[in-house]
Amino acid sequence: MSLPISCCNLCGSSERSKLGRCSLPIELRSDKTSVEVRTLAESVRDSELYECHQCGLRYRKPQLDEQSLGQLYRELPAQAWDYVEADIQSWNVAGKVIRKRFAGQSEIKIVDIGAFDGRFLSMLPKSWNKAAVEPCNSVLESLKQRDIRWISDFPENIPDAEFGQFDVATMFDVFEHLPDPQTTIRQIVRLLRPGGMFLFSTGNSSHWSWNLLAGQHWYLHTIQHLSFANPRSIRWLAEAEGLKLQGRIRHSHQRRTLRHKFQHSLETLHWRGRMSHGPQRHLAGLIQRLPGQRRLMHRDRAPMAVSLNDHMLVCLAKPTVSKETPKR
Ligand SMILES: [Zn+2]
Repeated sequence: MSLPISCCNLCGSSERSKLGRCSLPIELRSDKTSVEVRTLAESVRDSELYECHQCGLRYRKPQLDEQSLGQLYRELPAQAWDYVEADIQSWNVAGKVIRKRFAGQSEIKIVDIGAFDGRFLSMLPKSWNKAAVEPCNSVLESLKQRDIRWISDFPENIPDAEFGQFDVATMFDVFEHLPDPQTTIRQIVRLLRPGGMFLFSTGNSSHWSWNLLAGQHWYLHTIQHLSFANPRSIRWLAEAEGLKLQGRIRHSHQRRTLRHKFQHSLETLHWRGRMSHGPQRHLAGLIQRLPGQRRLMHRDRAPMAVSLNDHMLVCLAKPTVSKETPKR
């Protein structure tokens, strides 16, 4: 689906509020950015954050088109996402939900959308049948080594034979990359058998840190992030697609201590003050005078506050076939 530039990425409505200018893309701040990516980033450097009146989604416009995004993801190096598995809270939370749901069952079929090198799937029982949808060419060998079957680069290219086969589909930190989340999620749900479960994790754009920072929030630092969900837009999506919303679990992007949460909260309030021209600007000055906070005066963008509970794991269920045709 291709929507006019002024429309919501989720529902297509043009009724919206402008929430503020997005921060300068990280791709334009880094010396390591290739010429090709820099050119793409220049084309969207003046984007704004909007909120849709109809479905509540927050989204960036202008944004990269699907072709440019596809190119960007295919060429990511294998070390593009450098992480410590145990710190990824969406994996920890989803792992618990899935293990509880399928406890004692040995032949579960699971597919991970945007699986990258397959590290999440490799944390699940060995006996499970695992598949991946992943566009990055450099990780295909890693998937093979982990006994994970690669089925497609993007959801729209999944072969028909895969539909209706899976007990569970997962998708972590991908929703925000989607220019058309409804069409992509419809395609993912087609992979599930009736009653199958779809879990995805993304930022919650109605978290207090978003309400304070709007377009300056760290989630908007990269040009790859386009669509920002929240409980209202998830309800809209579930209803529109006839899916059962089974639950929504709030979590932080990464596992951190309470001390980190306090520091990140303070830094978020500080940046809100720095963005202001009125009396709130004094807040930044006050925070900088607190012990150990003087360094904040040198900050040049909003904090990457990965310890705050500004993410959510959404659990959706595909309806079971309610009535069978009576046998004659
Ligand atoms: Zn909308």
